[in-house]
Amino acid sequence: MSSLLDLIKSFRLYRMCLLCAFLLLGCDAGNHYPHNIILCIGDGMGVAHITAGKIAAGTLNLEKFPVSGLVTTHSANRLVTESAAASTALATGKKTNNRAVSVLPDSTPLKTLFEHARDVGKSTGVVVTSSVTHATPAAFMTHVDNRRKQAEIAEQIVNSGIDVLIGGGRGYFVPASRQGSRRKDDKNLLAALESRMPLVLSADNLSANSDGQKLAALLAPGGLPAAANRDYTLARLTRLAIQILSKNTNGFVLMVEGSQIDWAAHHKDAPNIISEMLDFDTAIGAALDFAQSEGRTLMVVTADHEAGGLALHDGSIQDRQVSATAFTTGGHTASMVPIFAYGPSSADFSGILDNARVGQILIDRLQKRKTPATGDREARR
Ligand SMILES: [Zn+2]
Repeated sequence: MSSLLDLIKSFRLYRMCLLCAFLLLGCDAGNHYPHNIILCIGDGMGVAHITAGKIAAGTLNLEKFPVSGLVTTHSANRLVTESAAASTALATGKKTNNRAVSVLPDSTPLKTLFEHARDVGKSTGVVVTSSVTHATPAAFMTHVDNRRKQAEIAEQIVNSGIDVLIGGGRGYFVPASRQGSRRKDDKNLLAALESRMPLVLSADNLSANSDGQKLAALLAPGGLPAAANRDYTLARLTRLAIQILSKNTNGFVLMVEGSQIDWAAHHKDAPNIISEMLDFDTAIGAALDFAQSEGRTLMVVTADHEAGGLALHDGSIQDRQVSATAFTTGGHTASMVPIFAYGPSSADFSGILDNARVGQILIDRLQKRKTPATGDREARR
C-alpha cells in the first residue's frame, strides 16, 4: 500500500517537474512572443562606427544586449544597397531594388510590419532624426516606387494610420504657396495631419502633448539639426514615443532611427559620426530601460547598411579619442552590419542573417509564428 502511495507521490512529483520545466521554457525571454517591438536602426552604422562610439564613450548601451549577430544587406538588384531597399527588407521581409520603398521591383506593394501590427490592434510609431519622409521611415509607412517622391510619401504618411510620428520634414507637409514648402502642389498636409492627431512643430511644445494616444511632431523643415547642434536628444523623443504608444493595452511597434550617422559618414566626418552614434546610443538606452522594466518587449538594434567603408587607424582608449580614420568611399559598402537583440524572441537574431529574414522574423513574431529555418537564404529573396 505504502509503495503504491510512493508511486502516486512520485508520479505527482514527476508531473510537477514536467510543469515546472514547461513554465521555465515558456518564460525564457529568448523564446516568448513579444507584446511590443522596438526596432532601432542606425543608418549607415557599421562595426567601425560602433567602435568609434565606444572609444569615445567608454561603454555603450549596446553592450547590454545579450544577443548579437551580423546582417547581410544587399538589395534585389545591387550588392551595395541604399536605405530604401534595405529598410524595405527590414519592414516587409522582402528584398527589392535600390530606391524602391516597400514595393517589389514591379511596383507591387509589400505588406509592412506596421500594417501587420495594426491588423492585430497594436499602435505604431516612428522616431527619426531625418525627415519623416526619408527612405528608412518611409518603408515602414508607405509604398512608392522611388524614394525621391517625398511629397507623395508625405501624403501617404498622413493616411497611413501611424499613431506617433516624430522627426523632421515639415516642408513636405505645407502647401507650395507657404514659405519653406518642399511641395509643388497646394495640398495642406499639416492641416490633414492635425485633423487626425495632436500636431507639434517645436521641441519646446513636446511635453505638453504627451497625454493622448497619438502625436505628430515635425520639428524641422528638413532633417533635424545634427546631434551636436540640437538641445534635445533622440532619447527624449524616444521616451516620449514610448510613453504615448504604451497606452495601447494591445501593444505597439516602434521604429527609431539614428538617421544622421549615415550623413556624417557620407561627409567623411568622424567627430560627427561619433556624436550621432552616441545620440543614437542614448535612445537605445532609453528604449532598453523600458523593455527591461516592461518585460514583454522585443528590442532589435541594427543598421540598414554600412556607410563610408570606415576604418579606425589610431587613437587612445585611455583618452577616449579616435585620432586617425580612413574612408574607402563617400557612399555605402556591402559589409555586413551588426544586429543586437533583447527580450522575447531575441534568440532568433543571433548568427549571420539576411536583412529580409530579420524583417520576416519580426512579422512572424508579431503573428505569434515561428519563421521556417530553411538553409537556403537565397530562396527568401
Ligand atoms: Zn547613405
